Amino acid sequence: MVKVEKTEQEWREELTPEEYRVLRNKGTEAPFSGEYDHVFEPGTYRCAGCGAELFDSDAKYDSGCGWPAFSAPADGDAIQEETDTTFGMTRTEVLCANCGGHLGHVFPDGPHPTGLRYCINTAALQHEKED
Ligand SMILES: [Zn+2]
Repeated sequence: MVKVEKTEQEWREELTPEEYRVLRNKGTEAPFSGEYDHVFEPGTYRCAGCGAELFDSDAKYDSGCGWPAFSAPADGDAIQEETDTTFGMTRTEVLCANCGGHLGHVFPDGPHPTGLRYCINTAALQHEKED
């Protein structure tokens, strides 16, 4: 399923410590700390691990939750969802379908029309501005 496979050593060398902690160790950055929380410039959000296109700025909205939030992925195939039962909660984890990197979680309290809130770590994303 996952197209980009690298050893832990390779990921460690290519990613920043924060990107590695989030993408490979399923870490979560502190709320309101990520630089993309309040970025609303047009463009594409790519995976910080492999460059795959994950989200479009059109779907980004200010959820107030402290992390970048999107109402839908750029493409349904771009992300993978898995049930996450850590920390005594049942949540839906969102992963990059291309490299398996952890992105964040999706919650059913988003805006219309999807009703979904993709709550994504800034460290997992790379914003590419539109020309
Ligand atoms: Zn990826």
